[in-house]
Amino acid sequence: MFIETETNWGRPVAASVTHAGNATEVKPANETTAMTVQKPAKQFKRRVARLREMNENGTISVLGPWNRTVSVSDIHRFMECQGAYLMWAEGDKPGERTVGDAIGQAVHGEIAKPEQERLVDVTKLLKSVPEADRAKVAEQVKALIVKAAKAQDEDSSKSESMQKEPEPMVYFDSYTNTWWYAKPDVMAISRDERGRYLLIVDEKTTKGRRRHHVSAAFFFAFVARETKALGFTGTIKTVVRYLRDFQGNILDEPFEEPRFISGRQLSDRQEQELHGIQATVRKMDEAWTRGEFELKEGGHCRGCSFRFSCPKNRQWLETRRLEQEAKAAESPQPANEAGILNCEAA
Ligand code: SF4
Repeated sequence: MFIETETNWGRPVAASVTHAGNATEVKPANETTAMTVQKPAKQFKRRVARLREMNENGTISVLGPWNRTVSVSDIHRFMECQGAYLMWAEGDKPGERTVGDAIGQAVHGEIAKPEQERLVDVTKLLKSVPEADRAKVAEQVKALIVKAAKAQDEDSSKSESMQKEPEPMVYFDSYTNTWWYAKPDVMAISRDERGRYLLIVDEKTTKGRRRHHVSAAFFFAFVARETKALGFTGTIKTVVRYLRDFQGNILDEPFEEPRFISGRQLSDRQEQELHGIQATVRKMDEAWTRGEFELKEGGHCRGCSFRFSCPKNRQWLETRRLEQEAKAAESPQPANEAGILNCEAA
């Protein structure tokens, strides 16, 4: 089992990976998971503001070697837009957060703390939210914290041991030759009428129910199972806990999507899920080997953390600006219109 002691932007780097920009030392494919990793090296101390150039084929190029670490957000980001994944993986500084991101980050950060240490004034955490909306958003954040904390208290009352924001679990996947990092919101050994199980909770402050939320829960459970998290080897229960309804209203009782994974054997469906993850990780590997990642624009660009530094989006914004300028030039205001309006106003 890998033992991690230090994190870096939510993702620690395994000890056998050297500093980004230097050569990457990769463990052989047949290495087992029964290894101890010493204190990991930091990949980068600070994120760097970068404006990347786009290649003619619509890709951006890598700046250094891959550290061969994978988290579930990496997989999701890569599937949505390879370029966004590369910018995150190589330490580019994200731009302004969306309101949804700011809410999620504030809620997760606060419920991880003991109650007496939580901020009374959460507006401090919402500097990226426009000032006019900040007080209203702060009320939502406070309400979400109350709901999430209540649900966690209930988890705790049924648990032998509970960890909020646990240290990341790290599993070496010999099929893809990569390290998988998983960090759920809550992990606990719980009990019901059928016996003990390992509970893994992923809390969501978004209104949408997405397929990748369930995949993420599977990823957490799989890594927990392979690393025998909390020394547990039995059944794992994952819960995706939604705090809002589809319209965005905060629910009186959170809506939960539970799933179970046997400690002994994966079901056919879970095997397929695992193969899907491995296939995506292999595609990531191919892109790193090629040295180019595709920028895939779409509706998701609106919520992308790199929308202001991404060369494709910059190009799109510039084209729109020029089009609007051209339109304005084609239909100039009649010369006397301003004068007429001024006369009428007078
Ligand atoms: S703005 Fe769009 S195309 Fe650019 S990195 Fe983000 S998701 Fe990809």
